[in-house]
Amino acid sequence: MAAKRVIIVGAGIAGLAAALRLSQAGWEPVVIERAPARREGGYPVVFSGVGRAGAQRMGVLPALRERQVSAFDLAYLRADSRPRFTVPHTAVRRLFGDGGMALLRGDIEDVLHEAVADQVRIRFGATVTAVTQDDEGVDVTLSDGSAERADLLVGADGLHSTVRALVFGPEDRYRRDLGHVVAATMLDQRPDGAPERAFSTVTTVGRTFTVADLGDGRVAAFFTYGTAAPDAELAEGPRRALQRAFPGPAWAVTELLADLREEAVYFDSVSQIVMDRWSQGRVVLLGDAAWCVTIFAGYGSSLAVGGADLLGAELERRPADIPGALRAWEQALRPEVLERQRKGRANTGVHAPRNRFEIALRDVPLRLAAVPVVTRLLGRHLG
Ligand SMILES: Cc1cc2nc3c(=O)[nH]c(=O)nc-3n(C[C@H](O)[C@H](O)[C@H](O)COP(=O)(O)OP(=O)(O)OC[C@H]3O[C@@H](n4cnc5c(N)ncnc54)[C@H](O)[C@@H]3O)c2cc1C
Repeated sequence: MAAKRVIIVGAGIAGLAAALRLSQAGWEPVVIERAPARREGGYPVVFSGVGRAGAQRMGVLPALRERQVSAFDLAYLRADSRPRFTVPHTAVRRLFGDGGMALLRGDIEDVLHEAVADQVRIRFGATVTAVTQDDEGVDVTLSDGSAERADLLVGADGLHSTVRALVFGPEDRYRRDLGHVVAATMLDQRPDGAPERAFSTVTTVGRTFTVADLGDGRVAAFFTYGTAAPDAELAEGPRRALQRAFPGPAWAVTELLADLREEAVYFDSVSQIVMDRWSQGRVVLLGDAAWCVTIFAGYGSSLAVGGADLLGAELERRPADIPGALRAWEQALRPEVLERQRKGRANTGVHAPRNRFEIALRDVPLRLAAVPVVTRLLGRHLG
């Protein structure tokens, strides 16, 4: 019998994980990626839970382990770079729990790409412009005018998913802005004021800046700030918007923003995607396209990999009933997604505290985090 075909839109973590898991299940995937080539870098993420379990089943956990960022402190600094307090790396390790790994988003993508490179065709520089389906399959028209037919279409094309817009309706029907903007970029070097092998954070009223020294000469920076009108900030572009939102800390951001390569910056609204259904017939959304939980939940990569793994398992279980497999998959995954979204919403104040009191309040558990019993409780709370 011929292998079932799946078209996957998006070669991010969700799309590549789906390509890997479905090819392991005997499917023939084709990946459609809008970017002209593989994207690089990203920002550090904590990878754990369902993501780690899925990665283990797919056989990529050892490769991910090799890339993990180990032994870093969390340094909380004043605006002038003097230390306020530090959570030492031993306590950070306990906070992550046994399974948690710090990884660069781009490294997770890399590992998944290496695992699928020989078996999966990726069409770069292409997107989808139309989708229709019948009882037997789904037809996709691509931006170059070509057409593909498959048994299943996976929309893994992120927060601003085109597959979602084409099949489920416009983004504003599902997007819930959390009133913040996030920017992330890689740096050529660590700013002098930031300690080595640390994630250094400066929080002032309404904004947070973090610079992460990841070792091997890799340094990432990210910014979050509160705003009532995220779309207006995005329209301005990262350099101008960040220069206005971050008049300091001068030792870290002034030069960085002046030299910012805008095309290398991730710059977006912090928004969740809330949908009653993630599938319709033979079309399914996966990852941020379906349920973006946001940076405030800190679990999107894990859900993308875990969700892909579970999707493959359900499709293996019900090979003759694809819509039924998709419904079963949704039912199994939804409780965890809803819980992570709830945590994400509850965390919004942490990144852009409204006053100095909220900053002090946020700091209490962090200052205590070096105490083992508190670390264990915190770890449980953060999940
Ligand atoms: C600053 C920051 C920190 C984070 N920290 C964590 C963390 O600690 N832990 C964690 O687990 N998660 C974290 N996340 C979330 C995590 O990065 C995402 O949830 C995860 O990468 C989801 O990946 P995705 O593949 O669904 O979407 P994306 O990474 O957005 O990938 C979508 C892909 O689709 C492509 N694409 C888009 N539109 C089209 C189109 N029309 N046609 C074809 N291709 C298209 C894009 O180019 C991209 O390659 C963080 C996110 C941010 C922004």
